[in-house]
Amino acid sequence: MSKLKVAVYWAASCGGCDVAILDIHEKVLAVNEACEFFLWPIAMDFKYADVEALPDKHIDLTLFNGAIRNSENKHIAELLRRKSKVLVAFGSCAHTGGIPALANLYSKDQIFHRAYVESPSTVNPQGTLPQTATPVTEGELTIPTMFDHVYSLDQVVDVEYYVPGCPPNPERIWEVLFAVVSGATLPPPGSVIGAGERALCDSCGRKRTEDKRITGFNRVATTPLDPDICFLDQGLICLGPVTRDGCGQQCVKASNMPCRGCYGLPPGITDQGAKMIAAVASVIDAREPEDIRKIVATLPDQAGYYYRFSMSQSMLGRKKA
Ligand code: SF4
Ligand code: SF4
Repeated sequence: MSKLKVAVYWAASCGGCDVAILDIHEKVLAVNEACEFFLWPIAMDFKYADVEALPDKHIDLTLFNGAIRNSENKHIAELLRRKSKVLVAFGSCAHTGGIPALANLYSKDQIFHRAYVESPSTVNPQGTLPQTATPVTEGELTIPTMFDHVYSLDQVVDVEYYVPGCPPNPERIWEVLFAVVSGATLPPPGSVIGAGERALCDSCGRKRTEDKRITGFNRVATTPLDPDICFLDQGLICLGPVTRDGCGQQCVKASNMPCRGCYGLPPGITDQGAKMIAAVASVIDAREPEDIRKIVATLPDQAGYYYRFSMSQSMLGRKKA
């Protein structure tokens, strides 16, 4: 039997999704038996030219992690789209923008100024900023152009499947790889695979009190955390109501930490942050606008909490000027 032709790529991301593939431990030997890799920059030495030389649709499966942040990310997304039969948005950043998409709360100029001029550890009295092309004696040095906006993978190219998570749970990764390798019937294109079909709250064992209301938000760093009570009841933001299950409850159960929403939207929700704002509104113990404002003010960085992983896929997409 011929081996499955596979590519793995890392665009705007931290690399955790790549490492999560290796977290399937000894099963990686079975993957090696069943798959032939054509690109996997973190693990093997390939050149982009090797991929460009392949016939179109030569690669059976590409796991693409990372958001689209610059011209190189976009170029490789388009290249792998051409060369792949099945392209999977692998992990939160490719799926919904992830942490990199929080940059959409700022402009590119603001980010450059912060990173290269005003950050406390920077010494740059001339205010020099990165240039995409720099003439040198030998010719011209170029680097990718950073975009003003961070995109999810499907906002740039067509995608067959989505595997959510920051990073995806290794057990789920193995299930997806095994399904593809064994020729199992996959769900229709456009589906989320390697995850559940309901909200995390529906599988959470923590005790909830229906009429519990809060008069202020707490922070995990300064609050004793009860391992049995719903985090919202403890005044802590937990995105369980608006997050797809399937991660194995890695935060709420294994780590006694609120869910931050990395598995993305469950079915029936179109904007994770907007839905979470509605959920939070329902537990605030106030009726008058001024009282509501005071309670809301106890939670810094509202957008960062509610759209931590889904800014690219939000209705607004970014902070509007
Ligand atoms: S909000 Fe969080 S802690 Fe509460 S039930 Fe949902 S997942 Fe569990
Ligand atoms: S509990 Fe939430 S943030 Fe934590 S791994 Fe699961 S989906 Fe991601």
